[in-house]
Amino acid sequence: SVSDPDRLREIVAEICDHMAGQTDRGAVADYIPELARVDPGRFALTLVTHEGEVIAGGDADTPFSIQSVSKVFALAVALGRIGDALWSRVGREPSGDPFNSIVQLEHERGIPRNPFINAGAIAVTDAILARSEPREALGQILQFVRYLAGDDDIAIDPAVAKSETATGWRNAALANFMRGFGTIERHPDKTLGTYFHQCAIAMTTTQLAHAGRFLAFDGALSPGGSRAIAPRMARQINALMLTCGHYDGSGEFAFRVGLPGKSGVGGGILAVAPGRASIGAWSPGLNAVGNSHLASMALEMLADRTGWSVFAPK
Ligand code: GLN
Repeated sequence: SVSDPDRLREIVAEICDHMAGQTDRGAVADYIPELARVDPGRFALTLVTHEGEVIAGGDADTPFSIQSVSKVFALAVALGRIGDALWSRVGREPSGDPFNSIVQLEHERGIPRNPFINAGAIAVTDAILARSEPREALGQILQFVRYLAGDDDIAIDPAVAKSETATGWRNAALANFMRGFGTIERHPDKTLGTYFHQCAIAMTTTQLAHAGRFLAFDGALSPGGSRAIAPRMARQINALMLTCGHYDGSGEFAFRVGLPGKSGVGGGILAVAPGRASIGAWSPGLNAVGNSHLASMALEMLADRTGWSVFAPK
């Protein structure tokens, strides 16, 4: 597999060139009105390698709304805080349904299938909230992301948070439904407010790639470096990203890319090549199941050119 930085730079440049020429870019999410304003022509890709090399191309300095990619960071915070007790509230199976689906919740007594569909992520955020106020829980998630990325400038975009708070009816339905089962313990408005703000964190692909290092390096910020979470938990999160990180497109992403990944409706994807690199990719246009069309394609090209699939022998 490829690890030479010069070769990786060539590959990233090739992918960025290829994406600049694409006319079919998918459709920008518009159910959150503020997201519909983003330019679909954007594309960015950043790798942070095990040697700490940062290789970036395209609009890698433009912040975008990380949306569901935040579910990875919230899960890490929740596991760090309450450990395996989290798994009494949320499962670990792929759902095969869209990210905002409610159908399985009634049959499964209000326990969401996994922490990456909206219902599961709302349950995780509620677990972080516990007895604290939304401001404190949100502060914890944001501080953790800043620490992981090594960048205190990362912030929440208030316009995006406000936009989703005003229109997040389906999430409100999920939260109220789960409150009825006792899966979430706080008033749904408090949990939702925290969740919408967590989703509204804005980051560049370079910040995202840095923030994902702990998953690439077994819980540490660099190989043998300072530890963010236990190795066991980092491996568990990677397993969930591979099986559930792209909702009902998770099988397809694993098939095409072969790396743990988590997408968001802002068009971002965080992907992990264990032991090799953390990868941030972004393009706002989405495919039919709500994952970035070009970011998925870019990761497929990257995995192909580098041999970084987790299924390739080391
Ligand atoms: N905030 C978004 C929502 O709850 C996140 C969804 C996503 O990125 N897939 O609808």
